[in-house]
Amino acid sequence: MNMLDVKNLKKYYPVNSGFLYSLMKKETKYVKAVDEINFSIGEGEIIGLAGESGSGKTTTGEIVTRLQEPTSGQVLYQGQDTSNFQGKELKNFRKLCQMIFQDPYETLNPRFTIRRTVEEPLLIHGYKDPEQRYEKVKDAIERAELRPAEKYMNSFPHELSGGQRQRVAIARAIVLDPILMVADEPVSMLDVSIRAGVLNLLKQLREDMGLSMLYVSHDLSTIKYICDRTIIMYLGRIVETGPTNDVIDNPVHPYTQALISSVPVPDPDMDREGADIEEELPDQIDLPSGCRFWPRCNKATEECKETDPELRQVKEGHYAACILIGKEGDSP
Ligand code: ADP
Ligand code: MG
Repeated sequence: MNMLDVKNLKKYYPVNSGFLYSLMKKETKYVKAVDEINFSIGEGEIIGLAGESGSGKTTTGEIVTRLQEPTSGQVLYQGQDTSNFQGKELKNFRKLCQMIFQDPYETLNPRFTIRRTVEEPLLIHGYKDPEQRYEKVKDAIERAELRPAEKYMNSFPHELSGGQRQRVAIARAIVLDPILMVADEPVSMLDVSIRAGVLNLLKQLREDMGLSMLYVSHDLSTIKYICDRTIIMYLGRIVETGPTNDVIDNPVHPYTQALISSVPVPDPDMDREGADIEEELPDQIDLPSGCRFWPRCNKATEECKETDPELRQVKEGHYAACILIGKEGDSP
């Protein structure tokens, strides 16, 4: 059984739904932040979710952890629909599924010591024995590779470096021994020189705890470093997905190719011959007809403007949504 199954997930945000607008009797419009996506995370698997800003990555992550409700579709956690979780079950789910955010400084209370910060989830979840709490806090801080833990426990966030603060956020996220983690751009704010250390820690936690992870990032080089499989999103849709090495080294969708050619990926073997992204991200409310990427795609044909492409398998486990793939005389 999968750790997580996301089925036909949609999140539409209404816009212009104010009073004046309703007086003008205009129909409500929506930002289709997530528009019918499907994916799974196996036990101990790290799945990368990539795409430009605005593609729907954070919304997806927040729905998975139930910080947001979907418009429709399902999130199954070990086969069970998370929208049915209430009371005790919901509390248990919140314990087992944790989230790490981009900016550790925002997630850490500046007035709390590190010890108090990491202890808080234990207090919320009713761990009554102070000695047991102390041991768990100490253990979590050390598992986050802040050693010895005693050195950090009485510090405040401002006394630590950015990397150390993100490790504190990680300690806080693992103190309840979760089995699923959503990490939303966890190293984007960190100096390039310390990113690998934090990514190695996440990999280590997968080894030690069997943690499954949804790793959200716009940065393909960190995705390549840590993820088993990768999903590329564009304007609320999945455009390409497969084993990370296939998707990043041999992308087949013009959008993925453009993403890869536009970022410096530290890999000398990388084929940089992709399409260039020529236009800005289109209007998110009035989406283009047919394929959402056509206005920016240098390979688009008339058919692309009319046909909404479905994900099709291009290789074992590797799927892409582009009608041009496999067409004679063209090889996106
Ligand atoms: P990403 O994380 O890939 O940058 P997001 O999931 O944050 O993308 O956002 C996807 C789209 O949904 C964007 O167009 C964003 O402006 C819109 N959006 C996100 N949250 C809200 C909200 N609470 N209300 C309205 N629109 C939102
Ligand atoms: Mg985001």
